[in-house]
Amino acid sequence: MKKSDIKMEIIKISKKLYDRQMVNSNEGNVSIRSGDKVFITPSQVCKDELTEDMICVTDLEGNQLEGSMKPSSEIGLHLHIYKLRSDIKGIVHCHAPYSTAFAIARKPIVSKGYTEMIVLYDKIPVAAYGAPSTPEIYKDVKTYIHQTDAFLLANHGLVTVGKTLKDAYLLSESVESIARTLLYAHLLGGEYPLTQPELNQLYEMRKKNLGKDPVTP
Ligand SMILES: [Zn+2]
Repeated sequence: MKKSDIKMEIIKISKKLYDRQMVNSNEGNVSIRSGDKVFITPSQVCKDELTEDMICVTDLEGNQLEGSMKPSSEIGLHLHIYKLRSDIKGIVHCHAPYSTAFAIARKPIVSKGYTEMIVLYDKIPVAAYGAPSTPEIYKDVKTYIHQTDAFLLANHGLVTVGKTLKDAYLLSESVESIARTLLYAHLLGGEYPLTQPELNQLYEMRKKNLGKDPVTP
């Protein structure tokens, strides 16, 4: 991918996040890894107003190589994830409201009644709390990043990863939709739980079709 195409992809996905109200004003950050370089959104700019010259380029240690502004204050989180999994080429971190509600309540997004959720994700876990923009925020990422492409940051928001930035974005959208649906089910008195044999059938489907094990702990 050409450098300008990478920057345009970041601008496009950032705008989608803003348009779908998954980030407010200057919140959230997205990045793409290309070889040993990381392209990432700058700090303190609305995701609706990014231009190519604002997109920051750094090496894997966070040394800035390009960009008219400072990289996102959460760049440490992105670099940490890229170092832990070399297959990841795109990351979205956002404060999508329904997912973030689960994060603030420190409740994993999990279901015994939503078939699609059970087969696709089993569980969106909550990584331990760390203050924003500090290394503490990603100290627990290693617990989950090898078994799931989506997890919550306690009291903060959602992180999704993918083989492309688009994959990571679509996963964010999907998780947010599921979080919203489960909250609505809660308002209706709670989900109607499937029986253990019915659940086992879905877990088998997950293993057979996606090759995925349960997300633990
Ligand atoms: Zn955040």
